[in-house]
Amino acid sequence: MSIMRSIVILVGLCANAHGYELRPIKLKYSNVFLIKAQKNILVDTGSKGEIEDLIKRLSDMKVKLDDVSLVVLTHAHSDHAANVAEIKHRSKAKVVLQRGDLGFATAGDHGKLRVSSFLGYFLKWFIDPKYEAFTPDFIYDSMYDLIPWGIGGYIMAMPGHTKGSSVIIVDQTKAFVGDMFMGGYFGGAYRPEKPGEYYFSDDIERNKSNIKVLIDMGIETFYVGHGGPVSRSDLVKWITD
Ligand SMILES: [Zn+2]
Repeated sequence: MSIMRSIVILVGLCANAHGYELRPIKLKYSNVFLIKAQKNILVDTGSKGEIEDLIKRLSDMKVKLDDVSLVVLTHAHSDHAANVAEIKHRSKAKVVLQRGDLGFATAGDHGKLRVSSFLGYFLKWFIDPKYEAFTPDFIYDSMYDLIPWGIGGYIMAMPGHTKGSSVIIVDQTKAFVGDMFMGGYFGGAYRPEKPGEYYFSDDIERNKSNIKVLIDMGIETFYVGHGGPVSRSDLVKWITD
């Protein structure tokens, strides 16, 4: 066997070890993502009242709720974390959350939102901050490795949108960023690929420097909580304008 062929086989085996399928699930108010790998990982869980819709969408992908091993939360606002408690009641899935949002999760209340764009002043009156409280199985501070869960990736703390905001990096080129920014207008209904300021943010400047860090890391595709996905080139253009 030639050296080149051996290298090709080796690279193929490594790729397979971290092989996965990425399935976006667009719910009414926010995006959930299923990462189908050796184990199934859910990124976020949607809003209150959406559990049955989420279960149906998973079932359409031949995944039962009980097949989900890990739930990773980008943050604990009600439109991302509202179904965690129900998922924990109905499955053996473990939940990982960055410590900064632990208070939201255990209170089942994300409290007051800090407005960061004009529409936010209007929208904040329509958002219910409360949801069923839960206790995460894993609480991390700066980084959480996903390799034990069968995927080449990790979660990193990136406070900004909330104190406990997380970014999930997969394959060093894909990032799940929650509400660090949004894609498109009206929750992504129009031009979902266009990056823009999200309606709410605890710390706009810190959020912006996080975006620059992700660009410097070489991330190519950004999966957001509302709208998207957003490409690296569109994000660079927006952040440097
Ligand atoms: Zn949020």
